[in-house]
Amino acid sequence: MPRPLSRRPRSYNIVRMELTSLFLAPKDARARPDATALVELLKELDVIGQAIGTATFLAGHGFARHIVFAGCSPHLVMQPPTDGSPAFCHVAVHGPYPEPRLVTGPNTVKPRCPQCRGRFGDWRQRLEQWNHGDPAVCAQCGSSTPASRLDWRQHAIGASLLLEMRHVFPGEASPSDHLLQRLEQTYGQPWRYAWAGMLLAD
Ligand SMILES: [Zn+2]
Repeated sequence: MPRPLSRRPRSYNIVRMELTSLFLAPKDARARPDATALVELLKELDVIGQAIGTATFLAGHGFARHIVFAGCSPHLVMQPPTDGSPAFCHVAVHGPYPEPRLVTGPNTVKPRCPQCRGRFGDWRQRLEQWNHGDPAVCAQCGSSTPASRLDWRQHAIGASLLLEMRHVFPGEASPSDHLLQRLEQTYGQPWRYAWAGMLLAD
């Protein structure tokens, strides 16, 4: 059953919650493609504007065309708040990392084994090992799977190259078909997406 869409809190001052993002990544988590072509594509589509840090950019005028918000249009904060908070829509490019980086978040559910659908109830305890490259070994069928290949129901994602649309709530927005097509053309493989916690520091 689909999860209900998350709603933006009415007030950021009284509701303290984990910052989240929409992530996009090449389907092959182990591929380590160069990030240069990604930045060039995002510039061409006007998804990104001015750089505000290392591989971090203000949202461009095309951001709202290529990131499709569901339901009633939320009030999007596109400029950095004066308090220095990262709670505004902007874009970050991560990697390529030597090993796929798994990003989880407040809505991450127990992942399932792709072979037998068995659940990994203790995924939080295993996360550190998985992020060091250990495979996820299913207690039910014994199969061994990279953590990025488990079924996370789009509430976690693992890859060597990650495109992050920051300050998007889980389920709130998805990439446009056109953006997914252009990413596939650029990298010669499909891209997938998920929502997870904001990835602020490496
Ligand atoms: Zn299994």
